[in-house]
Amino acid sequence: MAVKKIVRTWDNDRLIEENIDFLKQRTKKVQFPLTDRSRQIIQDLIDSYRATPCAGIAANQLGYDKSVFVGMREDIEVEDPEQDLDDVKPRQDNCEVYINPQIDRVDDKSTQRGSEGCLSLPDLTLFLERYDKIKVRYYNMDGKAIKKPLKGFISRLFQHELDHLKGNLMFETALGDIGVEKDQDQKQLDQLSQLIKYLQKK
Ligand SMILES: [Zn+2]
Repeated sequence: MAVKKIVRTWDNDRLIEENIDFLKQRTKKVQFPLTDRSRQIIQDLIDSYRATPCAGIAANQLGYDKSVFVGMREDIEVEDPEQDLDDVKPRQDNCEVYINPQIDRVDDKSTQRGSEGCLSLPDLTLFLERYDKIKVRYYNMDGKAIKKPLKGFISRLFQHELDHLKGNLMFETALGDIGVEKDQDQKQLDQLSQLIKYLQKK
C-alpha cells in the first residue's frame, strides 16, 4: 500500500515550477504485458485514489510518467451531472484502471457544462464546457481493449484525466468560456493567473 503525494502546481502563495513543468509533459504509453514497475504504479494509483476524496487520479499527478489513470467506473453515486469532479467520494469498489486511454470519437454537437476541481490545482473550482457524448477506448490490466460510449459525469471525468496524461491542465482545453464559482477565493484566482502567465512564457 502506497498512498503517494499529489504533484501540485502551487502551494500556499507560490507556484512550484518543477511540478508544473512535469505536469505539462505528455506521458508515455504503457507497454504490455505489464512490467512489475507498471503494476506497482497502478497499485499506487489505486491506493491513492481510495485514500483521497476524488473521482480520479492520473499517473503524472503522482509523479509517474505513464499513460494511465484510475477513476470511477460508474456514475451511480452522482445525482447531479454538473457535480464537481473534485467533490466526490466514490465507493471503494467503484474503481476502474484506464490504461492508454484515448477518445475515438466525439459528438461535437453535444456538450455539457459542469464544475471541475483538480487535485493539482488546490482549492480552485471552475465551470468548464466539455463534450458530452464521446466514444472512448482504453486497455485493462490484461491488455484487452475496452471500447465504450460515455456521457455525463464519467465523460467529463475521462476528458479531464486524459488531459492530464497529454500534459494539459483543465483550463487549457475547455471548449467555451471558463466560469468561476461565486464564492471562489481570490487567492486561487491569483495563483491561476500567475500559472497562466508562467505557461505563456514557455
Ligand atoms: Zn485534475
